[in-house]
Formats: sequence, C-alpha cells, structure tokens
Amino acid sequence: MTDAAVVGTGPNGLAAAVTLARAGLKVALYEKADTIGGGLRSAPLFDRDVTHDICSAVHPMAAASSFFRRFDLPARGVRLLQPDVPYAHPLPDGDAAAAWRCLERTAEHLGADGRRWTRLMGPLAARSRAVTDLLLSDQRTLPRDPLATLLLATRVPAHALPRSPFRGERARALLAGVAAHAVGRLPSLTSSAVAMLLAHTAHSSGWPLPEGGSARIADALAADITAHGGVFHTGHHVQDLAELGPVPIVLLDVSPKELLRVAGPRLPDRYARALRRFRYGPGAAKADFLVDGPVPWRNPLVGRAGTVHLGGTREDVHRQETATAAGRAVADPFVLVVDPAVTDPSRAVRGRRPVWAYAHVPHGDTRDPVDMIRRRIEQYAPGFGDTVIASRGLSAAQYEAYNPNYVGGDIAAGAMDLRQALARPALRLDPYSTPLPGVYLCSASTPPGPSVHGMCGHLAALSALRRHHGVRTPPDLSPAKKELI
Ligand SMILES: Cc1cc2nc3c(=O)[nH]c(=O)nc-3n(C[C@H](O)[C@H](O)[C@H](O)COP(=O)(O)OP(=O)(O)OC[C@H]3O[C@@H](n4cnc5c(N)ncnc54)[C@H](O)[C@@H]3O)c2cc1C
Repeated sequence: MTDAAVVGTGPNGLAAAVTLARAGLKVALYEKADTIGGGLRSAPLFDRDVTHDICSAVHPMAAASSFFRRFDLPARGVRLLQPDVPYAHPLPDGDAAAAWRCLERTAEHLGADGRRWTRLMGPLAARSRAVTDLLLSDQRTLPRDPLATLLLATRVPAHALPRSPFRGERARALLAGVAAHAVGRLPSLTSSAVAMLLAHTAHSSGWPLPEGGSARIADALAADITAHGGVFHTGHHVQDLAELGPVPIVLLDVSPKELLRVAGPRLPDRYARALRRFRYGPGAAKADFLVDGPVPWRNPLVGRAGTVHLGGTREDVHRQETATAAGRAVADPFVLVVDPAVTDPSRAVRGRRPVWAYAHVPHGDTRDPVDMIRRRIEQYAPGFGDTVIASRGLSAAQYEAYNPNYVGGDIAAGAMDLRQALARPALRLDPYSTPLPGVYLCSASTPPGPSVHGMCGHLAALSALRRHHGVRTPPDLSPAKKELI
C-alpha cells in the first residue's frame, strides 16, 4: 500500500519524497524521463568520459538552504567544491569585476566602492542562515530573526532603484550580474532580493560545484529515498491523476500548466482560472561545449571564477534583461558561463573538458543558441572558438520539450515578479495545497521559487504531513534514520 505519490523527480520532488519517507511513509515516485533528477541531471554528451550538467551546475542554494543543511550532502559523500572566486564579470574595456569568498579581498578589489560593498554584504553574511531561511521560506511564516528582516528591508529597496549606490563600474556590474539571475525586468524589488540572497552567500556558504556534476546531488537524495522504502517509476509521464490509484497524498513537482492538464476538470473553476493566469517568464537557451582547454579569458582574473556573467556594464545588463522580459530578442543577451574544471579538476579528462553556458532569451524562443553564445564568449575570450571540439544547443522551446516544467524555456518555472514571488501559483494561505483533497503542488512554481534548494518540496511535504498525519515536528533528515509515524 502506497502512502504518498510524488510526480516529478527534480530537486523539489526528491526533497518532498525524502521528507515523507523520513516520516515513515511509503512513497512511490513517477518521472517522465528515463533518468531521475529533473534540473539535476548530468550526462556525457560527446565523449563518454566527460560529464556535462544538462541544467543546473552551480549550487549556492544547495549549500545554504535549511533542507540541504539538515540533509547534509558532505556527510553523504557529495563534496561541494568551492571556488575562491565564486563569480566574475568581465567588462567591455578589458577590466573585470570579481567577488571573492573573502569579503575583505573583494572590498580591496572594488576600490572606492569597497567600504560600501562591505557595509552591504558584511551584515548579511554574518547572519547568513537567518537571511537565507527568510528568503527561502514559504513567504507566509512570520520571520524568526527580526534583524535579518530589518537588514533585507533596508537593503532590497535601495538596490531596486535605477540609480546604483555604487560609483565604480566594477561594483555596479557585479551586482547587476547577480540580479540578472532573477531573469526579468531590471531593476526591480524581486531581482534586488535575489541579488542580496546570492551575492551575500558568495561571502558565506559559497557558490560550490558538486564534485563530478550536479547529478551527484540527485543520486544522494535518491539513495536516501530508496533506503527508506521509496520506489521509483521512471519513463512514466503521468497524464491523469487517476493513474496513481487511490493514494491519500499526491505531491506534484510539475508546472501549473501541467497541473491543469493532469487534474483536468476536477479542479474548481476559480483555482483553474488562477493557474491559467499564472505568468511564465523569459526563456533560457543553452549551449554545451566540449573543449580542449580552459576558456582563454582575456582578463586572467575571470579564469579563476566558478561562474562568469557576460553582460557588460550595469546599464547593458538592465537593457538586455528588460528587453528580453518584454519578449524582444537582443543581439547581446546576458550569458552565464561555467567551466566546471576550474573548480573541479576531475571534470577535465585527457585534456578535454565541458563548458556550460546559457543565455536569457524571449519566452518560447526557437533559435539555436550555439553560435550566438560562442560569439558572446569570444568577445571576452578571443580564440574560444578554436578550443571547441563539439557543441550542442538547446533552444528555449526545446527546453520545454525536454522538461514540461520549463514552460517556454522559463527555467524559473514562473515569472519572478513581486506578485508571483508571493502568490506562487495562486493566492492561498497554504501555497502548496490545492482544492483537491490530498493533492499538493511542490515544484519551483511554489514559494520560495527557482533554484536547487529543495525547499518547495520540503515545505509542501511538511504541509501534507501536518494535515494528514498531525505531524508538527519536521522529520530528522540527517544520515541517521528516525521515523515519526
Ligand atoms: C539551463 C539551466 C541552468 C540552471 N542553472 C542552475 C544553477 O546553476 N543552480 C541552480 O540552483 N539552479 C539552476 N537552474 C534551475 C534549477 O534547475 C531549477 O530551479 C530546479 O531544477 C527546479 O526544481 P523542480 O524540482 O521544481 O523541477 P525540475 O527540476 O524541473 O524537475 C521536474 C521534474 O518533473 C518531471 N515531470 C514534469 N511533469 C511530469 C509528469 N506529468 N509526469 C512525470 N514527470 C513529470 C520532469 O521530467 C522533471 O524531471 C537551472 C535550470 C536550467 C534549465
């Protein structure tokens, strides 16, 4: 007898299943693809010994979230490797801005803006757990740490203004590049909140890469689920909730669009209308390269960074992101680049290594991004094209075919505007519950939104445990086993 079904095995589906299985429930998981993991898949694409991350590559949120802190990836053998320079941002004049894990080193590099950067990031980094717990919450629970709330309440609006408090281009571009992770119009309150979250973790828990690739995180989650009686059904694209049988709890790691499809006419009109109104944001278009050496960045500082933001000046980044969010393609889109072997030497095999890069593009864009991304990298790394042995592109439209959660290529699973940051996917007291008894949504289309933090799945599972089993204390997630039910 199955106690709970989880549809979709992205980080949120897996976190939900871990939480339920750790509470003693018998869990069955269903996954459309032949492999589990959703945004955590890694695979060889061109050379059987060189692993590419298909979606996520860098994991500041897996290092910081309370779910993963308690799950304890390192204790399970997943090494989170930390670059000294979490992120860098080359500038059009050949200069480059960089954030070191060391705040003092960053301040020194930022010159006249150094003190302001320290005043901005220092207090957030000092209270990093409280700050991340607040931003990675269900957005309903009252904040536990008033000082963290105050710090964010003063900082977020100040960096959502058209005029930057920083004077030099390094600090201005550095923060704009992090804000662009919100994938939407810039500046805005939500992108500023995302910037504070990501930028301060660079100076606290870091922006690590799991040794060997992102799939290591999925494997660790899956091993825990299996060890606690969970069963996986891969290659099973759920078409209708009825397929799952009479199971009392169903958690859906799917988009609101997919929820409408699988629940069909069972959903009450009002909720179905809210799901139909849910807005999806711009798309991501990805290029995977197999190369025969490190990216030849013109500025060597960039070559030390775990993640590289290609966007030019702050004004350029704002222009690119605002146009893309409005559905207009730009010639110089914002591009993120990761050369994983910089942080994890095991990723380079026989001199060959993967390069991961994606561009922000209009929703549903169908263009193959490989040439565009190659040209963009060459602007800052002349000769990059000569290092490329093989490449593969996935357009925004193809991403949706690959994973139905990325509607129109929207890897944030829903536009991150202020309304949708709070009302994901609809305005409800419990954002995970649906009007269907026992059916919960647990994907990144619920709070706290996108990234690999597992919090949407974990919080949705806790809601189900509370309602169906009266469990009020979260189960122990540490490698040692304890059951509540
Ligand atoms: C190119 C790219 C780069 C990214 N980079 C990063 C990064 O570096 N760091 C980071 O933290 N995040 C990154 N992300 C975002 C991150 O991957 C997502 O936010 C995260 O994976 C969302 O997790 P999820 O569990 O909600 O959904 P997903 O990971 O999307 O998983 C959903 C799963 O559900 C399955 N599914 C959907 N519908 C059904 C159905 N009806 N039946 C059965 N199965 C179904 C899908 O096949 C999929 O496996 C990136 C994403 C992409 C695409």
